[in-house]
Amino acid sequence: MKLVFLGPPGVGKGTHAKILSESMKVPHLATGDILRQHIREKTKLGMQAKDIIEKGGLVPDELVNAMMFETIRTSGVEKGFILDGYPRTLGQAEAFDKFLLKEKTKLDGVINFIASEDVIVDRLSGRRVCVDCGGNYHIRNIPPKKEGICDLCGKPLTQRKDDQPETIKHRLVTYEKETKPLVVYYSKKGWLYNIAGEEGVTEVQKSIKELFDKIKIRV
Ligand code: AMP
Repeated sequence: MKLVFLGPPGVGKGTHAKILSESMKVPHLATGDILRQHIREKTKLGMQAKDIIEKGGLVPDELVNAMMFETIRTSGVEKGFILDGYPRTLGQAEAFDKFLLKEKTKLDGVINFIASEDVIVDRLSGRRVCVDCGGNYHIRNIPPKKEGICDLCGKPLTQRKDDQPETIKHRLVTYEKETKPLVVYYSKKGWLYNIAGEEGVTEVQKSIKELFDKIKIRV
């Protein structure tokens, strides 16, 4: 199974990709997580990306493309993938098409998650993450058992720098300008499927499974 999860930041792509990746045993490859790992490890790419990410901009296409092609090849193209946060520009989508062609494979679909700006801003500003293990929470929707503490590893939770109100606005403008054109790009190819992403995790999972049944993707 080879899927791209598309949609604005905060729409729930990561949450749903993680659940499906576990139930379907398909690698979940999240560009933002991989870039943050590079920042933690202070690699050359991490140093190049740090400032851009903290300000809510996009890391240059050639860096992200090279990083993702290597990640997919290392993970094993034949294992399939759920891509979360890639591609994010038309340049990336075109380069990714060429990569797929070279690997003699194709996508099963592009799942486009939709939610209103109010819901997105609320989700991003209420998000708390564990810097240690990457655990993901929301102060109301997905609260940890003990306030401010990661359920998985017991370390303190923090707010991502790019989840501050001004940076959220900038990320949403960037999404509209750079990423939203991919909706038309993939829909012209006939690969795009929309999912309403505003409801709770259980309801949205149900919609995704109904969609997978319809388009014959096995869960
Ligand atoms: P995310 O965790 O998906 O919200 O990504 C966090 C940040 O990483 C984004 O705001 C960008 O700065 C950067 N990033 C993630 N994916 C990409 C991409 N495909 N192209 C460029 N920058 C990206």
